[in-house]
Amino acid sequence: MQAYLKNPVFKLIASCADELGVQAYVIGGFVRDIFLERESKDIDIVTIGKGIELAKLVHQKLGDEAHLSVFKNFGTAQVKINDLEIEFVGARRESYNRNSRKPIVEDGTLEDDQNRRDFTINAFAIGLNKNEFGKLLDPFNGKADLENKIIRTPLAPDITYSDDPLRMMRAIRFSSQLGFSIEEKSLQAISENKQRIDIVSKERITDELNKIILSPVPSVGFKLLFDTGLLHLIFPEMVKLHGVETINGKSHKDNFYHTLEVLDNTARNSNDLWLRWAAILHDIAKPATKRFETEHGWTFHGHEDKGARMVPKIFANLKLPLNEKMKYVQKLVLLHLRPIVLAKTEISDSAVRRVLFEAGEDIDDLMTLCEADITTKNPNKVKRYLQNFEIVREKLKELEEKDKLRNWQPPVSGEEIMEMFNLQPCKKVGDLKNALREAILDGVIPNNKDQGIAFLEEFYKTL
Ligand code: ATP
Repeated sequence: MQAYLKNPVFKLIASCADELGVQAYVIGGFVRDIFLERESKDIDIVTIGKGIELAKLVHQKLGDEAHLSVFKNFGTAQVKINDLEIEFVGARRESYNRNSRKPIVEDGTLEDDQNRRDFTINAFAIGLNKNEFGKLLDPFNGKADLENKIIRTPLAPDITYSDDPLRMMRAIRFSSQLGFSIEEKSLQAISENKQRIDIVSKERITDELNKIILSPVPSVGFKLLFDTGLLHLIFPEMVKLHGVETINGKSHKDNFYHTLEVLDNTARNSNDLWLRWAAILHDIAKPATKRFETEHGWTFHGHEDKGARMVPKIFANLKLPLNEKMKYVQKLVLLHLRPIVLAKTEISDSAVRRVLFEAGEDIDDLMTLCEADITTKNPNKVKRYLQNFEIVREKLKELEEKDKLRNWQPPVSGEEIMEMFNLQPCKKVGDLKNALREAILDGVIPNNKDQGIAFLEEFYKTL
């Protein structure tokens, strides 16, 4: 194990610990990430007694470049050096009361501290003192679980999850992030304790949900959330997408699994959390707009518009930010059918111009989402849609170069219009502005000032 502690900071912490006569260990996620060969900048050090004193001495020896913060009330301290954050905390024993996920904390042994960890793969410790520098202490055989790719709790899962129900989200998050499976009895305990999620704050739940969404294949996490019943409690709108209805022998697709496919497809092409949220929400209003029409079969008219209008409430419930990120998701949900329509029909310049105008800066993300939305299993259709998409992309590029419609600003401003026709702010100014925009989008005139002025002069006469 010594080879893993190659950063000289470990030797320094070790010598400080020996100097103070404190036992110290590297513990938890940092050790797990060593085995997984994932780089981690957060180091947790557990000490038997005197954690803060150890941090102070380490800080002193590191010199001016290091920064120390002491949290007396929590008995913890943090040393920052370059991009490393080293937390020092005394070993503790925890006991829980039923109404809170905040434990009653007492000083404890290393063993107590390892027992309070959520998963065997998060409970490793490596000794730092001279007599055991680099020695791995793995009381629950987490090493085997890492090799077998399994999430297991050190203690009985029913107690682990009931004590701190956030661990249910964490189990599913690690499973999705690492591609590990959750031990059967753990999964069962999650299903049985799901209602306990009620005592966890929405912010913490959403933190984990976002980590699931950012994992390589996010459907892994969502399927687990669904199968354990947690999704029903934390995000019921998404559960409504589940299921297939059949009338007169005609069925619609299961929009829950479709959404997960779109999410995975999007994840393959983008790491952007908000684009992935747009994928999750693109069909969110399908259940609310679903109709069976004898002539057409199943329809979901207006689901893009209603879906965009549902976004703020969903964001508010999940404590996601109600800012430009939300507006971005709304925009993509609203526009998600547009490129598909383009790709299915004869592609006219003016239709492409309109999509470009409405999507603005986000046109590339909209195209990524729309391509991800092609989940048909019919290979001929996939081929045809993708070919048409290529044409749409080329047209977009061509028109973008020619007309500069991304982040479009009118070539003649409202102020200039008022000056030209000696108008005060009034409806006429709005009409003139709209007519100018429509003329440009329809390709009646090119997007430039001279032709804009000429057009406005002619149009003014018709008012
Ligand atoms: P990541 O760095 O990917 O967010 P992590 O679990 O390593 O995951 P932290 O959340 O900082 O990072 O947790 C550090 C360690 O603390 C974990 O490895 C685990 O040992 C312990 N831990 C964190 N949260 C809990 C919890 N809710 N219950 C028990 N142990 C926990």
